[in-house]
Amino acid sequence: MTAALDALGKVWGYDAFRGQQGEIIETVVRGDDALVLMPTGGGKSLCYQIPSLVREGTGVVISPLIALMHDQVDALEQLGVRAAFLNSTQSPDERRDVERRLLAGELDLLYLAPERLPVATGLLDRARIALFAIDEAHCVAQWGHDFRPDYLGLTILHERWPDVPRIALTATATAETRDEIIRNLRLDDARVFVSSFDRPNIQYRIAPKQDARNQLLRIIETEHPGQAGIVYCLSRASVEKTAEWLSGKGVTALPYHAGLPAPQRAANQSRFLREDGVVMVATIAFGMGIDKPDVRFVAHLDLPKSIEGYYQETGRAGRDGLPSTAWLAYGLADVVQQRRMIADGDGGAQRKRAQGLHLDAMLALCETVKCRRAQLLRYFGETSEPCGNCDTCLEPPEGFDGTVPAQKLMSTVVRLQREHGQRYGAGHLVDILLGRETERVTRFGHTGLSTFGIGTELGEQEWRGVVRQLLAQGLLEVQGEYGVLSLPEAAGPVLRGEQQVVLRREPERVRTPRRSRTR
Ligand code: ADP
Ligand code: ZN
Repeated sequence: MTAALDALGKVWGYDAFRGQQGEIIETVVRGDDALVLMPTGGGKSLCYQIPSLVREGTGVVISPLIALMHDQVDALEQLGVRAAFLNSTQSPDERRDVERRLLAGELDLLYLAPERLPVATGLLDRARIALFAIDEAHCVAQWGHDFRPDYLGLTILHERWPDVPRIALTATATAETRDEIIRNLRLDDARVFVSSFDRPNIQYRIAPKQDARNQLLRIIETEHPGQAGIVYCLSRASVEKTAEWLSGKGVTALPYHAGLPAPQRAANQSRFLREDGVVMVATIAFGMGIDKPDVRFVAHLDLPKSIEGYYQETGRAGRDGLPSTAWLAYGLADVVQQRRMIADGDGGAQRKRAQGLHLDAMLALCETVKCRRAQLLRYFGETSEPCGNCDTCLEPPEGFDGTVPAQKLMSTVVRLQREHGQRYGAGHLVDILLGRETERVTRFGHTGLSTFGIGTELGEQEWRGVVRQLLAQGLLEVQGEYGVLSLPEAAGPVLRGEQQVVLRREPERVRTPRRSRTR
């Protein structure tokens, strides 16, 4: 291990390993396989870079992040590490030069895109390989949110080079994903290293969506003026509109999505990395592997598809350990849209079921009256006390007995279907409960329903909150293009008064919680 510590000090200028780094490095240097689950910013890179220096030969790193390979190699070269990459963006001449250096034993590290592996096997046969590192290993899991078919081909590493140790790394893994990584990469003999997924310096906040852009602007202006941040939107169109809108409000905001021309994408990414205080408005195409330590906030203007995605995206905030904000705005329309995307998406019944479960877990996180962090960590199999640094800890939401409102809403759904043979979306139901004689309500004769106007004890926002929470609790279902609501079987006991429903009261105004605990 002295060689490893030596490299840590001489090459990187650090004097101690962090967390489990030392043990992981020892495992790989010894020649054993390892699976490393460590949150973003935890220090995964050193876990394969140091063994690559210490072991004889070249460390081959499989990474899907082609756009970043150049920067990664540059950074290593500046430290005096002999590194190169092979991917589809290179000319044949460039590739030949890298191959020559590999065979001459002049490389400590070689980054390889997974799709290059099949054509590179002959080359690797002739090289001396220190280890294989499989970065972003969750890409091999179909259960996860970022599956890449190329990754399934990585079983060849074990079959063809059984004596070369492998280290698989990821920042995102539930028990299911972890099992799939082990299975699909044949890592049965690997030592598994799980670091805590807690990011104590990130303050988690989830707010009902009212006017998301203005809500966001208020947060930027009051809490993060002039600071770097990432704003995630679901669609390319809303990325562009939001970036433009923020720019109009004096925020340095740039768009990023896969539909932009490559040069513009590269330019925006490099401004975000190099300038201070740039806000990147992006789809989830942005961010994997981005190493910018001082991202002070990550905002989601649309509901993420899964907790894994949410955790990974918010994890890009505060890699430097300083206080940072993860803020999410979500509303009923998000749920409707996501359910529709799942229903319309390709993939078989099993995949759709998995996607539905991912969304359910995400909704439950949004509607919890308990500590967000504890719930998030529980999803990754960790237990934790209430954290004191999330919105529900800082301003505990008031729970109230929502059985009666739930019954009113549910019986409206039932009556509409029974008496009118139709299903409707949330907006129409709320109109009926509030006794609004809108054009639709009148045209369909819904003023005559016995539940017409019986819900005036709550306001429109509160009713929407009730709908969302019943959805999150599995007491209501939403389907189809128009987001029509229906009742699952679980609603029966509530309707019959056999089961109580506890709801969280919607805050009148979205206040900004005080900051507290930091790392
Ligand atoms: P990850 O890949 O897990 O997101 P990185 O490998 O990029 O994380 O490391 C995050 C940051 O922590 C980097 O700036 C890295 O140089 C730093 N770091 C990693 N290990 C150590 C250590 N032992 N001591 C000090 N800093 C470290
Ligand atoms: Zn908390």
